[in-house]
Amino acid sequence: MTRQKIALVGIGKIARDQHVPALEASDDWELAATYSSNSTLDGIDSYTSMQALLDQRDDIRTVSLCLPPVPRFDCAAMALKAGRNVMLEKPPGATVAECHALEAMAREQGVSLFTTWHSREAEQVDTAREWMKGKTLTALRIIWKEDVRRWHPGQDWIFDAGGLGIFDPVINALSITTAILPDPLRVTGAELEFPSNRETPIAGRIALAYPNGTEASVDMDFLKDGDQIWTIEVETKEGSLTLTDGGATLSIDGTERKSADTGEADDGSNPLLIGEYVRLYDRMAKLVKAGESDIDLAPLVLAADAFMLGRRKTVEAFEW
Ligand code: NAP
Repeated sequence: MTRQKIALVGIGKIARDQHVPALEASDDWELAATYSSNSTLDGIDSYTSMQALLDQRDDIRTVSLCLPPVPRFDCAAMALKAGRNVMLEKPPGATVAECHALEAMAREQGVSLFTTWHSREAEQVDTAREWMKGKTLTALRIIWKEDVRRWHPGQDWIFDAGGLGIFDPVINALSITTAILPDPLRVTGAELEFPSNRETPIAGRIALAYPNGTEASVDMDFLKDGDQIWTIEVETKEGSLTLTDGGATLSIDGTERKSADTGEADDGSNPLLIGEYVRLYDRMAKLVKAGESDIDLAPLVLAADAFMLGRRKTVEAFEW
């Protein structure tokens, strides 16, 4: 099978932990080049600017952008305007409007744009979505508590404006929830805790409502010691469902289904994610082949609305 060439942009934690291994395992893609200001990958051509990569490598028709959200827009716009297919890490942008702008550019150029949500590829999410069909929601509770020092060591951008803070992981929960619920949630209120020395929230709560009047909640914390909690609890008139381990484990009416890999890898990466990235690249290959895009901004809209409605509380300063 002929593999299509792809470039990776922004060689940092997620590129090394997940994108590179997923591309190495892929029959569809050949990692042909990188652009990153301070990083290269052994044996892979690297470029010192986005423009140089686009100008000099006409043979590479797809780029996958692994930068944090704020610096990602310029690279995405340059790639789309240069007629390349673009795959975006989550969240797809730092604002909703910039995502609409990228969508318009992709349409105009006739190329594929994929706003990836890796957590939607977690092993039990499709089963959860199927189970939810036709059910009447009566309660929904998201508990997303992880240790920022463990999963994002030294990544100051997370606490700079546009870096999302605790919403960086919580948007994964929102991506799963918006995928499994048949109808859209809306934010009705939020309380967000901002460290006194940072620009984004480190913890908080979100209140949401479902069209049938059911109230939902998110309880989120970026300073969780010990066991990490990535749980979505759903109750319906017809039974209950709980997704844990970020969607890798599912319990329906008390009966559990578990994915093979739920431990921790020796290199500090999250082993729950590798299958998710393999499936994302598989989907990107299908989109490019079909000349289609997959753009879903629902999780970003909920996060943005929580920022809009959220009452701000200042808490203790955060240091790594
Ligand atoms: P990261 O390692 O801190 O950043 C990735 C790379 O982006 C950096 O190494 C840096 O490379 C480049 N970069 C360009 N402008 C930057 C800026 N203003 N600030 C910081 N880095 C900049 O971040 P990451 O963990 O890979 O996350 C990147 C994206 O992937 C985020 O949107 C995140 O939500 C998503 N993601 C992360 C994880 C995870 O576990 N870490 C999981 C899933 C998704 P150069 O200096 O070489 O340019």
